[in-house]
Order: sequence, then structure tokens, then C-alpha cells
Amino acid sequence: ESAKKKGHIVMIPFMAHGHLIPFLALARKIQETTTTFTITIATTPLNIQHLKSAISTTISSINLVELPFNHSQYGLPPNIENTEKLPLTDIIKLFHASTSLDAPLSSLISKITEQEGHPPLCIISDVFLGWVTNVAKSLGTRNITFTTCGAYGTMAYISIWSNLPHRKTDSDEFWVPGFPKNYRFHRTQMHRFLREADGTDSWSKFFPPQIALSMKSDGWICNTVEEIETFGLQLLRNYLQLPVWCVGPLLPSTTKGSNSKHRAGKESGIALEDCNEWLDLKEENSVLYISFGSQNTISSSQMMALAEGLEESEKLFIWVIRPPFGFDMHGEFKAEWLPEGFEERMKHSKRGLLVHKWGPQLEILSHKSTGAFLSHCGWNSVLESLSNGVPIIGWPLAAEQAYNAKMLVEEMGVSVELTRTVESLISKEDVKRVIEIVMDKEGKGNEMKEKANEIAVHMRKATLEKGEEKGSSLRAMDDFVRTILQI
Ligand code: UDP
Repeated sequence: ESAKKKGHIVMIPFMAHGHLIPFLALARKIQETTTTFTITIATTPLNIQHLKSAISTTISSINLVELPFNHSQYGLPPNIENTEKLPLTDIIKLFHASTSLDAPLSSLISKITEQEGHPPLCIISDVFLGWVTNVAKSLGTRNITFTTCGAYGTMAYISIWSNLPHRKTDSDEFWVPGFPKNYRFHRTQMHRFLREADGTDSWSKFFPPQIALSMKSDGWICNTVEEIETFGLQLLRNYLQLPVWCVGPLLPSTTKGSNSKHRAGKESGIALEDCNEWLDLKEENSVLYISFGSQNTISSSQMMALAEGLEESEKLFIWVIRPPFGFDMHGEFKAEWLPEGFEERMKHSKRGLLVHKWGPQLEILSHKSTGAFLSHCGWNSVLESLSNGVPIIGWPLAAEQAYNAKMLVEEMGVSVELTRTVESLISKEDVKRVIEIVMDKEGKGNEMKEKANEIAVHMRKATLEKGEEKGSSLRAMDDFVRTILQI
């Protein structure tokens, strides 16, 4: 069959759930656009397993190729090939280790070239794997960078890492190159590693050079929608001086037809039917959904305040809960981390549902009873929330999440920020206050809901085809395909 194909696209994601799944979604999107390409996703053996279980339920012609990976050389514990079981402080080791995929990727490209008589059309690589651009150049193919973050968040993150503007001032507020002159970011909007980066630590040894390389690729694909990120896209295009194709929202596929406790390669702490049954009994927009993504958790004092605030707010909630920061996130949950009798009381009164470890997020967000999302503002979570018109209470914890949170409040008007980082102190009053604002059926809460609904409409239109007219994300995908066939 591959003989009939016009070319091969090889994709290489960064090894984290929030990157692997959008890469898979992008591969599918390319296949939906045209069947003329062979698509291969290459990553380490354990991540191939993760991808396999994520696609097991759908018929797929995406090739999955294992790249050998030597974790011990980088001080990673045995069998660690992604961020899942890695404490936040060790994630940087995984970033450094990802550069060792250079040789196996080169062999793969050479093998494909030999078999097909010409190199692949392009390698689509994660924004953090800038070294791929050199592999592509040396083997006669092109490199397209895929950022699984939004345009604004990507822009802030790459410019701050490249320029370290916060180190050039004593003030808490600073300007970030590439943003309008009067635009300000705050020191607390940086995660610890970035705040403390001084050019000699292992974080600054990785990010600036990798970002600089990604900026030399032939174009960028962004998991966003043209109409919802006008500002961020204008800045990003100007900064990169490269084509940026917005093909989003790339969302994970839902559970339809598969085991209801599995989605995207993960086992959920609750069966989908039980979760839906709980939500079905609630009023429209009455439930707050709480989750901090695939690799973060909050501190034990924050967890206590959140629980107390939830209980006193008397709102309904579903909380995907994990052991607090400093404990094994995948270990046993201890009742002492919550107010005495909390879980029992919530269960008994049917006011709150605690889902341990992992929940069916996209399904919860698309249920009509869900009215707001308390989120760490990871970009996938943001897209999943907004595509369902659900406003957000922001609690950014790492990566570019604080910039996403800032944009959601200041540019989109769909969010209120509760706090930042795992280090902050919060009180139950803080929690109650933001819940009341965002879940208010009138006033500010209603405004945010309306804006979130408008964004959801833009997102839907972007991926729709009406007769001759195609949405912006479909048009961008067509343009991407045309471009790589020509260059
Ligand atoms: N997710 C989920 N259930 C959970 C936690 C996370 O399904 O209990 C999914 C969520 O739907 C999203 C992804 O994991 O697709 C998290 O990605 P995001 O970019 O929001 O955050 P990250 O995990 O990268 O910090």
C-alpha cells in the first residue's frame, strides 16, 4: 500500500501524556485530510505501549516505531521513559535524555530513505526536541515543529526562556521581548526552575538551545484555533518569522465503544457509566470539576484548604484527587490529607465525588451538568474546557500554565485565578470566593460562561466543513499539506 503513498511523515513527540496524545490526534487529523501519506510516530518502547493502548479501540494505519532509549545514562530511575512517575524536580533529566534519541531517529530516517528511495517529506517534532532540526537537515528532509501548547503560552514560554528578562530587573514585573512595550508579566508567573535559572543550571542548559533550534525549523504547527488566539498568534508569527498553522483543537478521542474505565491509555479511578450516572442527577451547570492534569498535584495544606472551601461553598463537585506534593503521586491515598470524615460526608450527601488518580476528563467536561473547571491550565485541559463552553478557575502549577492562566483572565475573560504554584498558601475563604464568582449564574460568572460559549462556537466552526466553506483549522491543514508537498 505504501507504494501508492506520496510520501512519509515521521513524528516524534516529547515523552509526556500531554504531548503524546496531541501528537496522536495530529497524526489522525493529517490522515483525515489526505490518505496520501504514510505516518510514523517514533518514540521510546514504553511510550509506544502507551500510544498503543490509546489507539487500541480505533482502526488505525499509523505506524508506531520504537526507538531504543537509555535512561540510566541520564540518572533516570529504571523503566522511566515519560513524566508520569517522575517527580517534578527530575523531569529535567528526561528532557536531557530525550536528546539521546538523536542516533536512533537518524537510523530510522536513513532506513526509510533506503526503503522508499527518498527521504521522508518531513519530521514533525515537539517544540522541546529542537535537535531534530539538525537530524532533518543532515538527512535531506524538513523539520516542522509542533507545539502542543497554545500560541500565547508558547510565545511567552519561548521568549522568557530565550531572553530570561526577569534576570535583567529587580522589579517583580517585567516586559517580555516580543510582547507590546507596555505589557507586563509577574515574577510569580514563572515556575521555580525558570525563576532561578541563571544560565548554568540544567534547566537553562536545555531549554534556550533547544528552543533556538526549533526556531530554525521550516514551520510550526500549533494546537490552537486562529479565531480564539488572534493576539498570541500575531506575536508568535512575528517572533518566529515562520509559517504557523493552527489546526486545533486536537482533542483526545473519547471512550465510545471502548472499555469505560480506559481512555487515552490510562485507567480511570471510576467507570464512565458511574460518573455519568452521578452527573445525570445534577442540575445543568451546577458541578465544579477539579483536576491538575497528568503530572501535577497540590501541597497538603492547599489540599486541606480546598476541601474546606468546597465543603463550605456547598457547591457540587467532582475532584480527581492524588496524594499531595512530596508524596508518591501514584501511591495510596491517606484520609488524613483531608478534613476528618470529608470523603464519607461528600459521598453520603452526594455533594462531591472524589475520583482517585485519574478521571474521564473530556466526558466530564462535556456533560451538561458541569458548570466550571478548577484547573492547572495545562493547554489540553484549557482546550477541552473551552470547547465545551466551561469557564475556568485557574491554578497554574508548572511549565507555561501561568501564561495560559493570564491569557484566560486578561485576553479571553473566561477565568478567575485562585492562586499560583504548589508553594502558595491559600485559605478556604479564597476557595469559596472564586467558586462563587465563577459559578454565579448572573454577573461575572454569567459573563464568563457566555464568553466561553462564544469560544466553543469558534472552535466548532474551525473544524467544520459546510459545502464549499471550510473552517480555519481545516484550511490550515490543507495549506500545511500543500506546503510540505512543495518544499
Ligand atoms: N486527563 C484525564 N484525566 C485526568 C487527568 C488528566 O483524562 O484525571 C487528561 C486531560 O483530559 C488532558 C491531559 O490528560 O487531555 C492533561 O493534559 P494537560 O495539557 O491539561 O496537562 P498536563 O498533564 O500536560 O500537565
